[in-house]
Amino acid sequence: MTLQIPFDNSYATLPDSFYARVSPEPVKAPSLIAINTPLARELGIDGLDDPDVAEVFAGNTVPQGASPLAQLYAGHQFGQYNPQLGDGRAVLLGETVGADGIRRDIQLKGSGRTPFSRMGDGRAWLGPVLREYVVSEAMHALGVPTTRALAAARTGERVVREQPLPGAVLTRVAQSHLRVGTFQVFSARGDTKALQTLFDYAVARHYPDAADPASFLNAVMRKQAALIAHWMSFGFIHGVMNTDNCSISGETIDYGPCAFMDSYHPETVYSSIDRYGRYSYAAQADIIVWNMAQLATALLSLMPDPEASVEPFTAQIHTMPDMIRAEWLTRFAAKIGIANPTPDDARLVTDLLTLMQVSDADFTNTFRGLVDDTARDQFDDPTGFDQWSEGWKARIDSEDGSQAVMSTANPVLIPRNHRIEEMIQAAVLGDDSLFHRLNSAYSAPFTPNPALADLQHPPRPNEVVQATFCGT
Ligand code: AMP
Ligand code: MG
Repeated sequence: MTLQIPFDNSYATLPDSFYARVSPEPVKAPSLIAINTPLARELGIDGLDDPDVAEVFAGNTVPQGASPLAQLYAGHQFGQYNPQLGDGRAVLLGETVGADGIRRDIQLKGSGRTPFSRMGDGRAWLGPVLREYVVSEAMHALGVPTTRALAAARTGERVVREQPLPGAVLTRVAQSHLRVGTFQVFSARGDTKALQTLFDYAVARHYPDAADPASFLNAVMRKQAALIAHWMSFGFIHGVMNTDNCSISGETIDYGPCAFMDSYHPETVYSSIDRYGRYSYAAQADIIVWNMAQLATALLSLMPDPEASVEPFTAQIHTMPDMIRAEWLTRFAAKIGIANPTPDDARLVTDLLTLMQVSDADFTNTFRGLVDDTARDQFDDPTGFDQWSEGWKARIDSEDGSQAVMSTANPVLIPRNHRIEEMIQAAVLGDDSLFHRLNSAYSAPFTPNPALADLQHPPRPNEVVQATFCGT
């Protein structure tokens, strides 16, 4: 076989209690949907013209150098602690170290049952695989830290959900799949030795400057604060911010019923399973603090005197809302052309958001409209906007390069939900052309392109997607 993945595996050298060794389950008729050639190159992968590539990325052939395993973790799901989750439908093939010196996981998702599958079939259907592929690559192009999509393959098998649907496997790449829930599982079991091993591994891999649990916690908090503000600046709603879906590296991970908002409303929820809005657009900034408190709790047992550390750890967690506010202000001030905001500028942003909310204005098109003077068109009655605009223009008069600042903070294109749904429906019928079109369109989201104007429009009333569903 000519396909060569330069594996350099470290997780597989950790103690047995961290994972279960398991190979992907073969499927009937693998066929490749897409392979991300630039990403493959970054990972040092060679020989992509190998006729067996589909076999590898559907899980039928384990590539040379892989040490396939399913990782153990736990997590709070909608606030309820689940003591054992783990990769129930994913297998880590191994890691590569890129030319940039960064170690990355290569993982198959939807690759069959593992010892952590519980009642599940270990499979994924085509819809969530293609959604994760398109949305994670779009997030990357938007500049948001995220797992990447390396490949997608059909399995030639059906998976049964509400109805039989075509099965698929996603190959994804992450700086690691360490989650808050990975720390929780060992902490909850009282396995301090394993927790210490995990801590040392995570520090070496992600935060080599973090000397102790408190500075490690701080480093993760900083990454997550920046991440959530970045999401919010594009109207992104993750949908399932359980602690097992919250990455230690600070990347967006586990795309499920995620979506980008069309018209602005802070309480927007798309996920069909989020009935109480725990993970609504605006709630994300609060829930991440809760998630970091769970990480802090898990880290306590690494302290010489855990009891005495509760207070300082709590105080540390209480610094996070301000961290998020600062990140939020930086991101949103840039959206209105202010590179170096003062605290007063927050008001200018929230005033605009309030106007947008009242008018059901499109989030993306209103902000982008500030760049080309079309924002006003987003309001049925522009009186309020005109007033706001006067104050805004006076403020940015004194700013240098505000046009450039706005152009790089306000995308022309986001993966709108109705486009994703349309793409999935076509792919289920065997037509992947929309999938390829979206991937290519979203690779340059800040560049206006008349040929892609149709992708800028919000959904017509009959196109609105009210709810998104997990792949489970
Ligand atoms: P997720 O909603 O993707 O974050 O998954 C939550 C947990 O359920 C993880 O432990 C998954 O591995 C597991 N899981 C989700 N779908 C399946 C499935 N079809 N088969 C087995 N396990 C699954
Ligand atoms: Mg998950």
